[in-house]
Amino acid sequence: MSALGIDYGGTHTKLLLVDEGGAVLSRETVPTGTLAELGASVRRFLETASVAAQSFAVTVAGTLDPSTGVVRRSANLPWLDGVAPAEVLSELLGIPGVAVQDGEAGAIAEARFGAGRGSDEVFVIVLGTGIAGAHVLSGSVQRGAHGGAGEVGHVPVADNGVTCSCGQVGCLETAIGGQQVGLRWRDRGAENQDASAQDVVAAAASGDEAAVAVLDDAARALGRAILNVSALVDPALIVVGGGVSRSPEWTVEPAVAYARENATFHVVPELRLASLGVWAGAHGAAAVAADTFVGARAQAHRP
Ligand SMILES: [Zn+2]
Repeated sequence: MSALGIDYGGTHTKLLLVDEGGAVLSRETVPTGTLAELGASVRRFLETASVAAQSFAVTVAGTLDPSTGVVRRSANLPWLDGVAPAEVLSELLGIPGVAVQDGEAGAIAEARFGAGRGSDEVFVIVLGTGIAGAHVLSGSVQRGAHGGAGEVGHVPVADNGVTCSCGQVGCLETAIGGQQVGLRWRDRGAENQDASAQDVVAAAASGDEAAVAVLDDAARALGRAILNVSALVDPALIVVGGGVSRSPEWTVEPAVAYARENATFHVVPELRLASLGVWAGAHGAAAVAADTFVGARAQAHRP
């Protein structure tokens, strides 16, 4: 039995075929197109790999009704709105499939096969433009009763007085979201009007005091969020990924130090950086396909 993971990204789509033990049989990156184009790409990929896939899972960048597989809204792939992509692809490919939210797929992969490997209770935080979180217990994401669990980006932990896109003030995302870091630098007088988090890190490294202060605020907010996660979930391990974590000496490391210094009753768990990189979503999707249609976990999965 082999399972296909499809990570349907905004510009590129990753195809990953794994065997029943989870070992990678073949992988390919193709340009993102419509579902019909994706179906054609997958057929070509499977022909070249000359292995039949028994099932697939496709990631959705956006909100998804997990009970029906219908996409509520996808900002990057608007042709998916109101569509059940796994159903459409299943007809095109002639094999059963399921849709999975992209952040959930990435978190499953990191928890099971990446930095979280060996831990049964992992909390994954992805520091991107937005901030995603997922509590992964025994390899499955705990979605909560209404699908809203894990929203660590929207816990108010910053003293910056900034109103978040969600309407609250001082959410973690306002302090350490990719674009938000640049905006906080601008708030402190930087001339660069559309700085990225990387620009702020570069400025801090060359001694820009405003940039240092912005990253200090960001790290303290992340440290408070780590304490909140510890208090509410008490995971064995926290895994942090995403673009903003690529300069951990300015973000993740001082955040952990802050959390340890300010912990009272909390048990601050070990924190590791995500390890699977850009293939995490595809690995997670392949695992979801195997779980859903084979029923057995891909325990020996080797990325
Ligand atoms: Zn918010």
